[in-house]
Amino acid sequence: MTTHLNRREFVQAAASLAAGARLLATEMTRVADDLRKFKIAQITSFLHVCRRPKLVGKNSHLDVHGWETRENVLRIATDQGIEGVGVGSTTPEKASALIGHTLDEYWKPGVGMISPLGRADHALFDLAGKALNQPAWRLLGGQGREWISIYDGGIYFNDLLPEYQERGVARLLEEVEESLKEGHRAFKIKVGRGFKWMEAEAGVRRDIEVVKAIRRLAGKDVKLMVDANNGFNLETTLKFLDALGDELFFIEEMFPEQVEQDLKLKESLKERGWKTRVADGESARDVDHFDAYIQSEALDVLQPDIRAFGLSRQWELSRKIAGKTQIQLAPHNWGSFLGLHMQLVLARGIPNFLLAEQDRSASDLFDTSAFRFQEGEMRVPDLPGCGLVLRGDVYKRKYEPTAWTVMA
Ligand SMILES: [Mg+2]
Repeated sequence: MTTHLNRREFVQAAASLAAGARLLATEMTRVADDLRKFKIAQITSFLHVCRRPKLVGKNSHLDVHGWETRENVLRIATDQGIEGVGVGSTTPEKASALIGHTLDEYWKPGVGMISPLGRADHALFDLAGKALNQPAWRLLGGQGREWISIYDGGIYFNDLLPEYQERGVARLLEEVEESLKEGHRAFKIKVGRGFKWMEAEAGVRRDIEVVKAIRRLAGKDVKLMVDANNGFNLETTLKFLDALGDELFFIEEMFPEQVEQDLKLKESLKERGWKTRVADGESARDVDHFDAYIQSEALDVLQPDIRAFGLSRQWELSRKIAGKTQIQLAPHNWGSFLGLHMQLVLARGIPNFLLAEQDRSASDLFDTSAFRFQEGEMRVPDLPGCGLVLRGDVYKRKYEPTAWTVMA
């Protein structure tokens, strides 16, 4: 088969391209017309607090993380009676700036929801999806998979908690076992105990013992990652890895990210013939932070925080790595219940999503049963918007008393 077109084929291809462009323009006009019908009438914000199934202890830098996830949630209602809901922080002043405006003013095709709410755009995506009667992931391109791999990011230093110190590593195995029963098939294990909680050598020995014990328990098909929260340097990272072998799916924040150091780490992994990928970037606050890492291919896995970036900026980063097939997105998500669902909408939208992080906690307010979970994967629903259902009675009783609202 030849790739050259004869004249007739060329004319046909050009005509169909032009027709495609016309169709796209018509479609964009139709979407804008539909969104123009919806005027924002009211915005409400409240703190959503969810209980974790266990106490989460220290990581290499921070003390005990506690029993709860806490996040701000926005409800954005229109004069047509539909409402968007999502995680996001803003002020009453910024929220007021949206009142009376129509949704078409904020939807930028191929770019995202650009509004005075900035990165707190989850609820706006939910709202636009509902207004157009389309899942929000389709607005983000609809190029991802229906079932997305997720991981349990909550394996902290619970062997060091006073209440579990006696049980030591066995306590972590109990936690992994419980999470496996729930359906998890991937775990991120915190390491770097020697950074400040244990004597350096003893800390690394415990880190190694923990990873090996979890591997023995979970079996070879479960994905294991580690996160040192910058508690190692290049040398100690390699010593730690050499004690384990080619065991880890990715390694996160082994030391403060830096192009030259990360390239050296990648080179060392390559020399060993390992598949382990290098992940970093949760403290980045803007897309261009990643430019140098993308250009030099110093990182394999980019981890912008899902809430700190918002969906539009995550999408922008996804477009930046298009064509670099070895680089994928695995957003950071901690301290949030809805951050998981926000990631999943992104994941089904974009072509380069690796896996989603869960900070396991339970919500009485949201019915998330449309997000089915089995064998380590969660299904992203086909519902209009982001697929979350808020229970009105629970909201009224528990959250309304401390919420703030701006309206026309
Ligand atoms: Mg981390």
